[in-house]
Amino acid sequence: MEKKNLDWENMGFSYMQTDKRYVANYKDGKWDEGGLIDDANIVMNECAGVLQYSQSVFEGLKAYTTEDGRIVTFRPDLNASRMVDSAKRLEMPPFPEDRFVDAVIQVVKANAAYVPPYGSGATLYIRPYMFGINPVIGVKPADEYQFRIFTTPVGPYFKGGAKPITICVSDFDRAAPHGTGHIKAGLNYAMSLHAIVTAHANGFDENMYLDSATRTKVEETGGANFIFVTKDNKVVTPHSSTILPSITRRSIMYVAEHYLGLEVEERDVYFDEVKDFAECGLCGTAAVISPVGKIVNHGEEICLPSGMEKMGPITQKLYDTLTGIQMGHIEAPEGWIQVIE
Ligand SMILES: *Cc1c(COP(=O)(O)O)cnc(C)c1O
Repeated sequence: MEKKNLDWENMGFSYMQTDKRYVANYKDGKWDEGGLIDDANIVMNECAGVLQYSQSVFEGLKAYTTEDGRIVTFRPDLNASRMVDSAKRLEMPPFPEDRFVDAVIQVVKANAAYVPPYGSGATLYIRPYMFGINPVIGVKPADEYQFRIFTTPVGPYFKGGAKPITICVSDFDRAAPHGTGHIKAGLNYAMSLHAIVTAHANGFDENMYLDSATRTKVEETGGANFIFVTKDNKVVTPHSSTILPSITRRSIMYVAEHYLGLEVEERDVYFDEVKDFAECGLCGTAAVISPVGKIVNHGEEICLPSGMEKMGPITQKLYDTLTGIQMGHIEAPEGWIQVIE
C-alpha cells in the first residue's frame, strides 16, 4: 500500500479529509449492517435531534505504525464500552461493542495510506461518534440515530519535546454531581469553551476544574485526567464519579504498578495538598501525558519541583513505558494492542 505524500513531521492537530468513513444507521429499533462510504458530508433534517438538543456522544483513539511496520490501535474495546455507557446516559441506543471494534478496524484499513510512518511522531486519529438524526421538537430522545467513524492524520502533540505547561484553577465548573461529567458527550465540551477561551486570554494553557459541590477537590481539565506523583514516588489520581474515565490514565496507573513497581492510589485529592506533590501531568489520548509545571489559583502560584524545563522523572518513565507499549518495543499486557494489519 502506497502511503500518501504528506508532510508527516509538520502536521498539526486539525481535520484532514481521508478516503473512507464508516456509517451505520439506527431505525425502527435496530442498527443496519453499516459499511464504508466516500461522502464526508452528512445531510439531515433541519430539526434533527442533535441540532436541537445536542444528543450526541463521541470517542477518540489513535492508530500507530509500530517499529516492525504493523498498524495497531490501543485498547479499542475500552472505547467501545465507554461509548455504550455514554449512549445509555443520553437515552441513545448503544452501538454493539464488537461491531465498534470491527468498524474501527475496517475504517483504519481503508485509510491505511494515511497512517503516519513509524518514527514520524504523527498518528491517525480515529473519531467514532453518534447522534440523533430524525426531527425532534418536543424534548425527548430521537428515534433514529447515526453512528460514524472518520479518521484524520494528526501531528506529534509535542513538537521539540514536551515542555511543562501552566494551568489555572477555573472559576467555572465542568460537571455537576450526578450530572454528565463521566460520559464523553459534546455537551460537556460546549459548556467548557467559554472557560478555556477565558483561561487562554489570561495566559494559561489549561483549566484545572474542582468538584462543583465543595470546590475543594481536584477533578480534571476540559479533556484530560490528572496524575500526581508524591515526593516518595507514589502515583496518585483523583477518584470521582464526575470525572471522565480516561483510558490513558487507567493504563498509566497499571503501568506504574505492574511495570514500574510503584505504589498507586486512586482517591480524593484535595486542592490543599497539591502544593506537596513532586510532579503533575495531564493524561489523554492526544498527548499521552502533558507535564504541568505550574498551577495558579487566583494569583497564588504552585510551582511543581519538576520545574518548567522538562517532565519530572517519574512522569518521564510512565510516558516512555506507555508509548513503548503502544509503539511495540515494550511487551504489552494481554489484549492492549489491536493489530489492524
Ligand atoms: C476523552 C477525555 C479524556 C481522556 O480520555 P482518554 O480515553 O485517555 O483519551 C479525559 N477527560 C475528558 C473530559 C475527556 O473527554
